Amino acid sequence: MAKTPEQISDGNPVGEPEKRLNFIEQIIEDDNKTGKFDNRVHTRFPPEPNGYLHIGHAKSICLNWGIAKKYGGPFNLRFDDTNPTKEETEYVESIIEDVEWLTGMKQERIFYASDYFGEMYRDAVDLIKKGKAYVCDLTAEQIRETRGTATVPGTESPCRNRSVEENLDLFSRMRAGEFPDGERTLRAKIDMASPNFNMRDPVIYRILHAEHHRTGNTWCIYPMYDWAHGLEDSIERITHSCCTLEFEHHRPLYDWFLIELGVYRPQQIEFARLALNYTVMSKRKLLQLVKENYVSGWDDPRMPTICGLRRRGYTPEAIREFCRRIGVAKFNSTIDVVQLENALRDDLNKTAQRRMAVLRPLKVVIDNYPDGQTEMLDAVNNPENGADGTRQTPFSKVIYIERDDFLEDAPKKYYRLAPGKEVRLRYAYYVTCTGFTRDAAGNIVEVRCTYDPATRGGSSPDGRKVQGTIHWVSAEHALDAEVRLYDRLFTKENPDDPNDPADFKTYLNPESLEVLTGCKLEPSLRDATPGDRFQFERIGYFCLDSRDSSPSHPVFNRAVSLRDSWAKQAGK
Ligand code: ATP
Ligand code: MG
Repeated sequence: MAKTPEQISDGNPVGEPEKRLNFIEQIIEDDNKTGKFDNRVHTRFPPEPNGYLHIGHAKSICLNWGIAKKYGGPFNLRFDDTNPTKEETEYVESIIEDVEWLTGMKQERIFYASDYFGEMYRDAVDLIKKGKAYVCDLTAEQIRETRGTATVPGTESPCRNRSVEENLDLFSRMRAGEFPDGERTLRAKIDMASPNFNMRDPVIYRILHAEHHRTGNTWCIYPMYDWAHGLEDSIERITHSCCTLEFEHHRPLYDWFLIELGVYRPQQIEFARLALNYTVMSKRKLLQLVKENYVSGWDDPRMPTICGLRRRGYTPEAIREFCRRIGVAKFNSTIDVVQLENALRDDLNKTAQRRMAVLRPLKVVIDNYPDGQTEMLDAVNNPENGADGTRQTPFSKVIYIERDDFLEDAPKKYYRLAPGKEVRLRYAYYVTCTGFTRDAAGNIVEVRCTYDPATRGGSSPDGRKVQGTIHWVSAEHALDAEVRLYDRLFTKENPDDPNDPADFKTYLNPESLEVLTGCKLEPSLRDATPGDRFQFERIGYFCLDSRDSSPSHPVFNRAVSLRDSWAKQAGK
């Protein structure tokens, strides 16, 4: 059964939520039965502000925010801003904008890991006092070399048995800035023989004389991810800390820190990260595409970023519905990008108003139509939604149709315009082709027709049927526009296959963007505002570009074609 917008707008699973819990909801409901977290449910989304959010992050947001909404608990947007060298305020701002757009809600609960640096430092001091952490003088290289292998235990650092006093002294001097970058680290004292590498005395603080976008130069030591993340969750009293599968082997460490400190401990739960075909999802690679100008920016409509998808014409509802459809599981898999496109088609089919637009115009003159006359004809705004009503669209003697809606030598099954054939002009009249002219180069430049005045509105009183209906735009009234057609950014299904030695950029699709100028649009599109989405009849869904469009030079992006053209090509 089709979902109403209300059903998908709250981000909760629709259908039969109580029967079809995902495995995380199952854990939460079990916890609520045993009162593990006093029946509280409190989730978070913890991005590192080192890039723009992508569709993979959308999955995590929909999951965490959706769970909080479903169980009536708070949801924290928390910046995991513990690495000053890669993080920027620009990213923080874009992330807030994207989360608010995707959830449709102003986010009141915004937190920063950097606000906890003081508390994290005191916790580290506590750990030292308990004899569970030590200052290590080995270089990063030496630490790596002494980690051991899967079969050989690591070697203990010569600094491992330093006294608590010496550790406290050295750690405070690390903090005071006495040592250069990389000279010392603080390491947890766990087990160099653990089968889990993460437990082999992991580094929890490193020296980094770098300015932080929020704390400035207050700190020259920064906490490592594993140490910081659990503390952030604990400080915020998160109940269920959902992260992607690669953190499964970090969970024992997550637990170890919080147990050793004797502080509140959330439950870490791992789920499969989203991978989509024909794109890359790592922020590092997306940054490369931006920096090296393979795309026009993070919000290039071909990017899998949330801002790129938004600019392309995606709705938050479509992305949420996509996330709902793919679900949450414990094993990694690659999702076909067609599923994302289908979610958008389904949404825009219901919500986008129809307009006529001719992308590759061919002039048609209707010889028996009165010169200088204009008629306003009724056109349905959205057959899927009667409440959208109708609009009036002008018709006149000279119109444009799509080039490929005319063929000189039409095969039998060709139902569009051809010499001697009659077609219906949508919402207008039946016309019959009487001839055409070519330019010196042999290109067809003009088609001539006659119309049947009795067929106004597109039906014939004598019951005469025509097989084809084509769209058109009145030449005199048309709005000239640029239209950008997008295709997949990569030609290879898995462009960053780790087993492929070639650089992922080798597989960039040279035809991922086609720019059409001189397109002829129905004049009512003059009133569109950036971000507005329409179905151009028979062509696809389009969105007025929010960056490059202006009233004197409208630019429309194709969000998605009407049907999946790749399936046809692949013979699926
Ligand atoms: P990348 O590998 O692209 O740099 P990341 O995991 O380092 O991404 P973070 O900013 O740390 O990016 O991610 C914030 C949250 O989003 C984390 O909880 C992470 O698990 C989740 N996340 C990131 N990528 C995906 C994905 N592809 N699918 C689902 N969740 C994701
Ligand atoms: Mg990360």
